[in-house]
Amino acid sequence: MPHIAVVGSGPSGVYTAQSLVQQGSVPDVRVDVLDRLPCPYGLVRYGVAPDHEKIKSLQNNLRTVLHEDRVRFLGGVEVGPALPPAKLLELYHAVVYCVGAAADRRLGVPGEELPGSWSATDFVAWYSAHPDARDDGFVRGVRTAVAIGVGNVAVDVTRMLARGAAELLPTDMPQAALDVLAASEVRDVYMVGRRGPSQARFTTKELRELATLPDTEVVVEEGELTLDPGYRDPVALPAAVRRNVEVLRSWAARPRRDAARRIHLRFFLRPVEIVEGGGRVAGVRFERTAPDGLGGVTGTGRHEEIGAQLVLRSVGYRGVPLEGLPFDPGSGTVPHLAGRVLRGGVVSPGEYVAGWIKRGPTGVIGTNRPCAKETVASLIEDAPAVVRKELAQDPLTGLLAAGVRPVEWDGWRAIERAETALGLTLGRGSVKIPDWAGLLDAARGASGA
Ligand code: NAP
Repeated sequence: MPHIAVVGSGPSGVYTAQSLVQQGSVPDVRVDVLDRLPCPYGLVRYGVAPDHEKIKSLQNNLRTVLHEDRVRFLGGVEVGPALPPAKLLELYHAVVYCVGAAADRRLGVPGEELPGSWSATDFVAWYSAHPDARDDGFVRGVRTAVAIGVGNVAVDVTRMLARGAAELLPTDMPQAALDVLAASEVRDVYMVGRRGPSQARFTTKELRELATLPDTEVVVEEGELTLDPGYRDPVALPAAVRRNVEVLRSWAARPRRDAARRIHLRFFLRPVEIVEGGGRVAGVRFERTAPDGLGGVTGTGRHEEIGAQLVLRSVGYRGVPLEGLPFDPGSGTVPHLAGRVLRGGVVSPGEYVAGWIKRGPTGVIGTNRPCAKETVASLIEDAPAVVRKELAQDPLTGLLAAGVRPVEWDGWRAIERAETALGLTLGRGSVKIPDWAGLLDAARGASGA
């Protein structure tokens, strides 16, 4: 009976498991979905903003897959030095790595390490209750924040900074983060792009949402927008980009209103330094850029500083090498051929990749579906050769022998129940448990282990 391991239980891992059991081309297949965390769903649980309930409800679809008879969730299993890829290949017929892109890209400017300068992914991890998140309080004492970058993550963190307590209360955000954000005195949030509005990476739906926040005004500067030839004449722009530009144009035409908070969308400003004051972040110094006619920008030698007490660097994710797997540091991905892992340019039998570690950190959640399908199609094609060997035992027996104590589906269900119970004690809906001990206590309480 073919037994496949999928490493990572985010969307790409779950879609991979789904493709494996659905396509029927690997008869009697069994799939173990492994995750380093005791909780499944990857960035759907720990990346999608808490106020995006509709996207978060995708968890229900992912749950159906993980709950399938032929699929087994094994949380708390870290592939690494203690459980290397070579060991997994002994235990399983094939392994599909869907480990995402866990790190943030660096800006490479002075001051990046100052207190008060964080990657947006650190901030997201904190309000999403990731058990590895660091708690800095983030917004304590902050009146002005700068998000560097104009992708959807920058929009997420900008929106979360501008949300009021009443809007955050119904979310499953951990109580400590809710308390801090509810007491926030942030009044101005700058979201800053180094290129023009027609090169921004955010999607129109996410952009528009910024103007729906209560008591919050979105401020754009017409003079800055018109530096972009695509803004002045949007006819040739792709439809999705044109929609963004038209939203910005409508905002530029609106009279300014008074509001408790302001979101400033700025363009053609490239960060050159995170400025220090009193031992922590005091602002960001930008160089004004100008379009180079090729979609890029050039520096103008003119500078502008935006004073701020919090800087969130939101310039994209980056894949992290997994010891024992090949890695291309340039692209931050595992080299592959239609999802088959390449070692030294040669296909490594039984090893596959899907999701961000395969194609880089781009696209929306749904993009992972065709990506996973391509990988599974390769695996199915290879199955006659890959599945030929007999496995000595159920891989779980081998994992236990290697000292791993997985959190199985019942353990995860117990975490969910504990989060519902926690919410009840706080007068809220389900509230996420933010620490390893709390998660493992809840999970292990279920099995009595
Ligand atoms: P992203 O879409 O790649 O955007 C990164 C932004 O950072 C771009 O504006 C980029 O500008 C800028 N940037 C990169 N290097 C920079 C530098 N050195 N200095 C200044 N700016 C720099 O990344 P992301 O926002 O992290 O999103 C990652 C993926 O997750 C995307 O596919 C996104 O759509 C997805 N996502 C989706 C949602 C949603 O659907 N609601 C929510 C969150 C994330 P340039 O273009 O000039 O390089």
